[in-house]
Amino acid sequence: MAKPNTLPPLREVIAKYQLSAQKSLGQNFLLDLNLTSKIARRAGNLSAFDVLEVGPGPGGLTRALLDEGARRVVVVEKDPRCIAALEQIANFYPKRVTVIEADVRKIDPLDYLNAPIKIVSNLPYNVGTELLIQWLRPQIWPPFWSSMTLMFQQEVAKRMVAQAGSKSYGRLSVLTQWRSIPKIAMYLPASAFTPRPKVSSAVVNITALSSPLYDVDYKTLELTVAKAFNQRRKMLRSSLKGLTDNLENKLLNAGILPTSRAEQVTIEQFCLLAREIKQ
Ligand code: SAM
Repeated sequence: MAKPNTLPPLREVIAKYQLSAQKSLGQNFLLDLNLTSKIARRAGNLSAFDVLEVGPGPGGLTRALLDEGARRVVVVEKDPRCIAALEQIANFYPKRVTVIEADVRKIDPLDYLNAPIKIVSNLPYNVGTELLIQWLRPQIWPPFWSSMTLMFQQEVAKRMVAQAGSKSYGRLSVLTQWRSIPKIAMYLPASAFTPRPKVSSAVVNITALSSPLYDVDYKTLELTVAKAFNQRRKMLRSSLKGLTDNLENKLLNAGILPTSRAEQVTIEQFCLLAREIKQ
């Protein structure tokens, strides 16, 4: 087990490096190390894994991942003010931390990671969904990660796990569940963060399936689902107009009534429809 933690409390770190939270960077920090340990434990055994953490900020979750035994943690942080604090953590856990100062969307984290890989992050809300979609998109499946343990706004988390017919069911539900299993692992009130955001959050555990539930071209599925849910109150025969010729036949071949609305269509039916459209 790890040695006793003699790194300074996070509030001291924030004061020392003047890390006043910036809204534009989605900075809502977790300063309770018991809580960050709890989150790290939700990612399962980390000892055989390299962990990618996006947006470590002052490093509360980073410390927890290391204390929970992660083989190595690669942190990618856009805010240059956080780097000295993260370097201090890297010195405390020799050879187990790689600190990268970058916008995660502009680098390939795989340049720094060795398989097997888990992703564990308290993501900035403003780029969270974009990153999730990017990590769910690889052509080759299974992807480079074996699981992801990610913090989202509770509403987004609910959309990821929602079933057809429910209010939260949408594009994110289909794109996530088509080839992975998402589960809400923990709910967090807004008061857990500093500064306190307007909404509450949830940690979602996403495990990659070894192969997709249904074999289908990702781009076609993404386009179909995006168009269908863009006007979710409309019948599919009008919301999907212009997407393909013979739309009504293709809907029927996929077992979907053209008068159905997107939220009534199961993931399997969306995949069948995307297959029809691709043909
Ligand atoms: N992990 C820390 C914690 O739990 O206290 C901080 C989480 S805070 C919600 C999000 C972090 O992501 C901030 O430190 C912010 O600077 C960083 N960030 C925002 N946009 C980023 C980007 N495009 N690439 C990398 N880091 C980013």
